[in-house]
Amino acid sequence: MTALYPTGYSSYEPQIMKQTQHNSETIAVIGGGMSGIAAAEAAVRHWQRVELFEWSQVLGGRLMSMKEPKTGRWIDNGQHILLGCCSEAIALHERLGLTRCFDRYDSLPFMSSDNKSWTLSASPFLPNRWQLVPSFLKMPFLSFSDRLSTGLLLRKLGKVFSSKTQSQSFDEPFIERLQREHASNESIEKFWKPLVLSTLSDTLESVSCNAVCKVIRDGFMSGSDAMTAWIPNKPLREIYAEMASESLVKLGVTIHTGKKIELLEWQNYSDDGCTNQTDSDDDAVACNITGIRLNDGTCRRFDRYVVATPWHSTWQLLEKSNMGSLAEMLGLDRFEAGAVTTIHLWCDRRLLPENQGYCAILGQPGQVLFCPKHCNCTAENGSELVYHTVVVSASHRLLSETEMTSRGNAELVSKVQQQLDKIFRVEFKIEHWRVTTVFDAVFSPSTQIFTNRPTQQTPIKNLSLAGDWTQTTWPATIEGAVRSGILAIE
Ligand SMILES: Cc1cc2nc3c(=O)[nH]c(=O)nc-3n(C[C@H](O)[C@H](O)[C@H](O)COP(=O)(O)OP(=O)(O)OC[C@H]3O[C@@H](n4cnc5c(N)ncnc54)[C@H](O)[C@@H]3O)c2cc1C
Repeated sequence: MTALYPTGYSSYEPQIMKQTQHNSETIAVIGGGMSGIAAAEAAVRHWQRVELFEWSQVLGGRLMSMKEPKTGRWIDNGQHILLGCCSEAIALHERLGLTRCFDRYDSLPFMSSDNKSWTLSASPFLPNRWQLVPSFLKMPFLSFSDRLSTGLLLRKLGKVFSSKTQSQSFDEPFIERLQREHASNESIEKFWKPLVLSTLSDTLESVSCNAVCKVIRDGFMSGSDAMTAWIPNKPLREIYAEMASESLVKLGVTIHTGKKIELLEWQNYSDDGCTNQTDSDDDAVACNITGIRLNDGTCRRFDRYVVATPWHSTWQLLEKSNMGSLAEMLGLDRFEAGAVTTIHLWCDRRLLPENQGYCAILGQPGQVLFCPKHCNCTAENGSELVYHTVVVSASHRLLSETEMTSRGNAELVSKVQQQLDKIFRVEFKIEHWRVTTVFDAVFSPSTQIFTNRPTQQTPIKNLSLAGDWTQTTWPATIEGAVRSGILAIE
């Protein structure tokens, strides 16, 4: 494990941010998640006055923590991880002074219930595309011929993806591609399924082949830095609600929390130019946003507006603002949410070695085990309780409804305990647990959506969109959110 460099880590130079000059216009950013934070940070370089409006009491959006009553610790709504290929997100974290809140791991360990372990790591002296090959060929979960054919397929799929051709290229559910390529059942179960679930939070049957190709190209084929894992060493609340907010304020952004934007006010074209919106005028087409109406009844006016809210909130906002035709044009009704469930465990011992923060686990129901030290606590008898989280991505497809609600949580915890027993083969006791599910953690990267998402630009000239769901060629990730915020401003 290496601590991150607080400043000037040159490998993570931003690629899409351009230098521009200040002008006297004003801009409102609606939504204080990662996309709104990125938009506001990019906007202070361009605009005189930047104001950020967030519905909840703190910034961060889905990067949030909650107080665990029994231990008194802030625990995250789900474990977040950044990969080294998330270059824009890492560059933004660096500009906001947040990189010291992450620990960096250079390899990806795997463990299976038949007591086999494997570490995927890069050989930095080989060309980018070949760096993972030596490690991949040692994978113990597959036969040698499966490793070879899977490696060749990885290489083939990594070449398919290019952001230029992506939108035009043929897409299909990833499982169909695997079947056409005659991937073995063993490789599907032990390699492709865990890869797709943990990176795209959906099943092989549902995800777009283009989305998987993107993951392979950026994660597996882009050199040793690309697959390093950056794991928060503080609660998300401290990083985003406190530190990121402070940095934005220092840069000159005015932040309003607890402010929901209820309506966008607009003008539409008529023969004699722009006229004001009327409530009865359902068919009118907005040409210019003139203001935002807040939940306290006030109206604020700016030159430009960025709506950086999730697709379902954007849909609601547009409907309420009599702009249903724009919501329809953007196709907001096509998006489907994906859930992530996290099992938070306080155990009487640590399951991973001290210097290992996480590990992909094969089998079911858990996919990745994390061991973040900042949530450890002390039991009544004075002994240390070690905090672990087990993540189940795509839980809306993999778990039963009962398992995701409090009625079935205990059953889910007992399944996780059995899985960990088989993998680690050591005696340990779960002293306390909690299960959290975020039902709209991500959007499902299906063939209907992944390559056909709305861009940040809208037909309304002073309105842009941001959010992990807008088109960036990235799946629903922090990187996608950051890129969308920067693009909305650029
Ligand atoms: C459990 C879980 C695990 C995840 N794991 C990872 C991971 O490991 N790696 C990764 O890269 N990504 C992960 N993600 C995804 C990542 O968190 C999101 O992609 C990213 O945070 C989305 O940011 P956003 O700004 O697009 O949206 P959001 O974070 O949803 O922010 C939108 C903000 O808009 C506000 N808002 C909505 N409506 C209004 C309104 N009318 N007025 C004012 N404000 C409004 C909301 O309150 C919210 O704060 C995970 C997500 C979850 C939930």
